[in-house]
Amino acid sequence: MKMVRTIKGTHDILPAQSGDWQDLETQIHKTANLHGYDEIRTPIIEDAALFNRGVGEETDIVSKEMYSWIDKDKSTISLRPELTAPVVRAYVQHNLGGQSLLQRLYYIGPSFRRERPQKGRQRQFHQFGVEAIGSDNPEQDAEVISIGWNILNNFGINELELNISSIGSDDCRTNYKQELINYLKPFIPQLSEVSQHRLKHNPLRILDTKNKDEIKIIESAPKIENFYTKEDETYFLTVQQYLDDLEIPYKINPLLVRGLDYYTQTTFEISSKKIGAQDALLGGGRYDGLIKSLGGKDVPAVGFAAGMERILIATDSRKRTDKQVACIYIVCTDLSALGPLQQIAKNLRELDIKVILETLRRSMKAQMREANKKNANYAIIVGEQEAIDKTVQLKNLNEGKQDTINQGELIAYFKSLTF
Ligand code: AMP
Repeated sequence: MKMVRTIKGTHDILPAQSGDWQDLETQIHKTANLHGYDEIRTPIIEDAALFNRGVGEETDIVSKEMYSWIDKDKSTISLRPELTAPVVRAYVQHNLGGQSLLQRLYYIGPSFRRERPQKGRQRQFHQFGVEAIGSDNPEQDAEVISIGWNILNNFGINELELNISSIGSDDCRTNYKQELINYLKPFIPQLSEVSQHRLKHNPLRILDTKNKDEIKIIESAPKIENFYTKEDETYFLTVQQYLDDLEIPYKINPLLVRGLDYYTQTTFEISSKKIGAQDALLGGGRYDGLIKSLGGKDVPAVGFAAGMERILIATDSRKRTDKQVACIYIVCTDLSALGPLQQIAKNLRELDIKVILETLRRSMKAQMREANKKNANYAIIVGEQEAIDKTVQLKNLNEGKQDTINQGELIAYFKSLTF
């Protein structure tokens, strides 16, 4: 029969890779918890309206890349293309703001976008992120940035580059947008179709262009910093001051824009020199308008999302050193001993020792080979004679030493050992 394969743009995470995923997840949980953030888990499917409103119908994510379908009850459902809108929905729906003035949340999970698959770009990919909902102060921005920085740094990505910018307040952007449009109008014939469309709907996003000719045009465009209000300027400088205090290096990149209307003030991206600045590992910013636009109160927020596949690509040469758990392989060629050995295995696992018990009933030689393949520290060997004597041969696989031990004494023996 024909084999069924994964669909385009999706990948299995196989046993050889899942250890790295677990390490990354452990690092995320640990660093987020150390900063006082709690995990939130939301469904993978949501009402499509959440993303139409929360991400924006004009964005590529919603207009071109979202997986949506009409369900049997005629409602339109989407696979989530990101997690900020779902987290904010949960915040509003469960009145988390009523429970605490500031919610510090983080998430880990898959997202779905129908993009053209390539290295570091998939249709199902995994994101983690944090959202701090409730504070409009610059120390909150610095805290959120530092969590992203610390997770990547602690995970062993050395060549990190943090770019920050400010897109100012609503007033600043309204004035700036107009000036930018005035500047770009004479260049319309030279602009790509996408940029011509953006000029009408979302002119700030043109600053983000990767088109070489457009980059040249942008070089002489008006700069947003000349439109900051006094408060915008102070806000941005204070974020920088706190990053200095946290000893986090950064570059100011005025071309860093987040394309969505609800973004204000700080924006940031972290990339790795190893995979290039074009493919950010992590991106975020302040999104004070989003909660209100999703039916909540006018509550400020700042957050980021990071791509886990890209992080693992940027760390593919990383050595996994922290996984040395003690492991015992139980080699048994006499079925009558299997019952007592099950009990021994259970008791050893209660001591936090990894125990693998043969279930294929292979030959002694094949089982010993398997024990070595699994990097076991010890083999507990029971053949016909040991089964009768109620003993085991305990072989230290690192040193090659072998002793006879009574089955009843095994647990006490391993209790006294430190691995
Ligand atoms: P965004 O929600 O677009 O700001 O993306 C945040 C992060 O998610 C990016 O910096 C990437 O690391 C990651 N990411 C976004 N889209 C994809 C994708 N299609 N495949 C893999 N990672 C992605």
